Amino acid sequence: MRKIGLIGGMSFESSLVYYKLINEMVRERLGALHSAELLLHSVDFQTIVDMQKTGRWDDAGAHLAGVARGLESAGAACTLICTNTMHIVADAVEAATAIPLINIIDETAAAIRGAGLKRPLLLATRYTMEHGFYTDRMATHGLDVVVPEADDRTLVHDIIFNELCAGKVLDSSRDALFGVIERATARGADGIILGCTEICLILDPEHLPLPGFDSTRIHAEAAVNFALGVDAEGKS
Ligand code: GLU
Repeated sequence: MRKIGLIGGMSFESSLVYYKLINEMVRERLGALHSAELLLHSVDFQTIVDMQKTGRWDDAGAHLAGVARGLESAGAACTLICTNTMHIVADAVEAATAIPLINIIDETAAAIRGAGLKRPLLLATRYTMEHGFYTDRMATHGLDVVVPEADDRTLVHDIIFNELCAGKVLDSSRDALFGVIERATARGADGIILGCTEICLILDPEHLPLPGFDSTRIHAEAAVNFALGVDAEGKS
C-alpha cells in the first residue's frame, strides 16, 4: 500500500472527514482491520485564512509547498490538498515535489463527466467561485459550471467560513442552500458540486433535487485508488 500525504487543517472539520473516509474505504476494499497508510500535516487554518483575505496567494503557495516537501521526505507517495479553495496554488504545490498531486478539480470533473452531466452548479467559497482557477479547469474537461449569482455567493461563502469551518451545522443554512440550488436549477444547472470540503457536513449528495458530487468523497476515493494501485473502476 502506498502512503497518502494529506495537506489538511483547512479546515480540520473536513480533514476529519477525509481521515474517516479514506480509512473506511481501505477497510472495505482490503477487509479485516486494514486501514490506510497516511500522513497528515494539519496546518493552522487562521494563518491560511489571513493570507486568503489579503490576497497573499504566493505566500500561501510557498507555505503549502513546504508542507508537501515535508510529506514527501516523510515517505508520502502522493499529496492531496484537502480543500478546493487552496487548489488556487496547486501548481506551486505540485512543482515542489517529485510525487503526484491528486487534483480535486480533475477528480470531480471526471465524476461529473462519468454521470453524463454538463452544467453543474458550484457551491464553494467566494475564492473558488470567483477566481477562475476552478471554472477554467472544469472547462478544460468540457464542463460549463454554473456559478451562483452575487448574493448567493456571499451566502454560501459565509455559511462555509462562519459556520461549517467553525463546527456549526444549522438547519436554517441548509434551507438557504436549497434556495441557491432552486435558483441555479432555473438557470439550467443539471447537477450540484459540493465544491468545498465542508459542504458534505450540511448537504447529503444523495438527498438533493439534482445529482450531487461531493468533492471530499471523490478526492478521498481517488487517494485510495492511488494507494491501492487500482483505477476508478477498481481494476489493478
Ligand atoms: N475547505 C474549503 C474548500 O474546500 C474552504 C476552506 C479553505 O478556504 O481552504 O474550499
